[in-house]
Amino acid sequence: MSNLQIEQISCLSDNYGYLIHDPESGETACIDTPETAPILDRLAQKGWVLSHIWNTHHHYDHAGNNLEIKQATGCQIIGPAGEADKIPGIDRAVDDGDMVQLGAHKAHVLNVGGHTLGHIAYHLPATAHAFVGDSLFALGCGRVFEGTMAQMWASLQKLAALPRQTQVFCAHEYTAANAAFAATIDPDNPHLQQRIAEITALRAQNQPTVPTEIGRELDTNPFLRPDDANIRQHLNMIDASDAEVFAEIRARKDSF
Ligand code: ZN
Ligand code: FE
Repeated sequence: MSNLQIEQISCLSDNYGYLIHDPESGETACIDTPETAPILDRLAQKGWVLSHIWNTHHHYDHAGNNLEIKQATGCQIIGPAGEADKIPGIDRAVDDGDMVQLGAHKAHVLNVGGHTLGHIAYHLPATAHAFVGDSLFALGCGRVFEGTMAQMWASLQKLAALPRQTQVFCAHEYTAANAAFAATIDPDNPHLQQRIAEITALRAQNQPTVPTEIGRELDTNPFLRPDDANIRQHLNMIDASDAEVFAEIRARKDSF
């Protein structure tokens, strides 16, 4: 099985769209459709033909250009079953436990609801890639718009359980703002301090901080660390459950 080729495309003010291409089958999938022109331009530049759109959730900056891109390419659209009625042009609805393929490459669908109720992520175990939309961000997580805090925490635990070396392709460049918040929750974490320095340097040169890795997030992302003794002490929540500590961190970020 040949390696997948991945193109990261800056869209709108802070979105990332992704193309993944399997040279063996010639198939190409687009993860979400934040903008039409940059995605079609990149396809043309690479000489790739779009076979699929894989949507993560229904928000406009993720599925809003589905129809334009489908019309231009004739691709098939795969999206979350839990919000299929809100995914323009959807051909196949998938949910937790389903599998989608790009050539011989297999992506497992994870339900990571919370940001939206039906939000899904695509995990390709063989190549250690995960496309997570607005569920997990570098040093952050999605705002809980439609689901409950408990649902979001359960979703993040699924992502946290992926192998540490899994590359995580988030849908937004929110890392600098997330870093500023993380420092207020976990101020004594040396891994976080080092990472913030790296992020500051990258952003100063307008370089992306995405993709990230599960292992790095486990070490530094406060939303994946509600079990950490220092964070609990800092929040004065020593005896609370992980879900309660997560909910407190998410609530603080909402008003940060
Ligand atoms: Zn969203
Ligand atoms: Fe978004």
